[in-house]
Amino acid sequence: MEKMQIKIRELENLSMLSRVLAHEIRNPLGSIKGFVQYLIKKISEPSLKHHLEIILKESLRLERLTNDLMHYGNPQSIKIERINLKELIYDIALPFIMEHEEISFDIDLDEIHIDTDKDKIAQILNNILDNAISAVSETEPKKIIIKAKRVNDKIKIEISDTGTGMDEETLKKAVEPFFTTKPKGTGLGLAIVTRLCEILKIDFEITSKKGQGTKVCLTMPKSL
Ligand code: ADP
Ligand code: MG
Repeated sequence: MEKMQIKIRELENLSMLSRVLAHEIRNPLGSIKGFVQYLIKKISEPSLKHHLEIILKESLRLERLTNDLMHYGNPQSIKIERINLKELIYDIALPFIMEHEEISFDIDLDEIHIDTDKDKIAQILNNILDNAISAVSETEPKKIIIKAKRVNDKIKIEISDTGTGMDEETLKKAVEPFFTTKPKGTGLGLAIVTRLCEILKIDFEITSKKGQGTKVCLTMPKSL
């Protein structure tokens, strides 16, 4: 564990600390998960199996947290490439659409090409959509609208949902690292979005009304 010897005070900020911690947790967690999966296959005694499945479920939760922490703490270098925004948005939305037949998706995308970091923009859209999905899971109607258009010399992406919405206090805290109202949330989704938007020079805005829904607007330059 030589990495753990790095002194805390030498870590410049929370992001570095997150990365080191996530890294240190991942390997032992990987073994725990692997051995538990192996034991679940080998053991037939039901109550024992049940307990092992709880260990597996909690390991998967920790794995999600470490993945989020890695992203939060890892600014990486920017890799700029030309991307077809319409294709990218469809690629990201498709698994959500297939998994949630109960949600109606309204997608209206202009033919847009931008020069930006594909992985980072994908992560941003993924985290926002993930929240929209959980927000509509508890409400009726279940609708998510995704739009992308040119506005003057900028590109604007809007993701709105008819979900639970947020009161003012929740909205203020929503982007804080580790703030979550979900039993299984990590509270890192929007903190990562905020960070990646800074890196990609994207203006990120959320408006929300409790009981009505939420709209996220991303306004970005055509090239970085
Ligand atoms: P997590 O999804 O793990 O809770 P996030 O950073 O993605 O973490 O979101 C933080 C909190 O902001 C959520 O727990 C939720 O309370 C609120 N939130 C974010 N997006 C939405 C949304 N579209 N509708 C309602 N609440 C939202
Ligand atoms: Mg989230």
